Amino acid sequence: MIRNDIPVLISSERIQQRVDELGREIAATYKGTPVTIVGVLTGCLVFLADLIRRLDLPLRISLVQASSYRGAATTSGALRVQDDLLPDLRGREILLIDDILDSGQTLNYLVEHLKKLGTASVRVAVLLRKTGTQKVAFEPDFCGFNIPDEFVIGYGLDYNDEYRNLPFIGVLPQDAR
Ligand code: 5GP
Ligand code: MG
Repeated sequence: MIRNDIPVLISSERIQQRVDELGREIAATYKGTPVTIVGVLTGCLVFLADLIRRLDLPLRISLVQASSYRGAATTSGALRVQDDLLPDLRGREILLIDDILDSGQTLNYLVEHLKKLGTASVRVAVLLRKTGTQKVAFEPDFCGFNIPDEFVIGYGLDYNDEYRNLPFIGVLPQDAR
């Protein structure tokens, strides 16, 4: 069993409502143009699965993995991108999907990377954006919720690879760290 005392930041109902709205916003932006979703593993999975079922658009799905080395000595947030799962993206309209925008380094790097692959356009949808933590100027095209600077889990987001299956967004309790 998952511990049942995790403080809820965003309930499952609020998430579903907002994902509905995002789906409509995104569909209205692309107006029927075929889109290639690029999901950032692993945190994107639950959001991606819910969002794509609200997108009334012709679409393809692909995945990329980005891991950051953020040891005590690393302030630059060196990133490793594993993109062997990506198909040929030349000429495609890309919607990059991630769980959370924190410093902004991951998405900023990935957008630049995808642009170099000859894509027609790259837009970004994130479920969450932390306020006051961004280190690079980066504006997502679509954003579900702005949240305070807390470590959040659930709805795809993990702590040590656990808690991704919580149906809500919760705050990781101090004694679980
Ligand atoms: P950024 O490059 O924007 O600093 O980092 C984004 C990545 O950091 C996210 O994709 C996510 O993997 C991780 N991250 C940042 N904040 C949180 C958080 O509060 N909870 C979890 N589970 N992951 C986070
Ligand atoms: Mg991530």
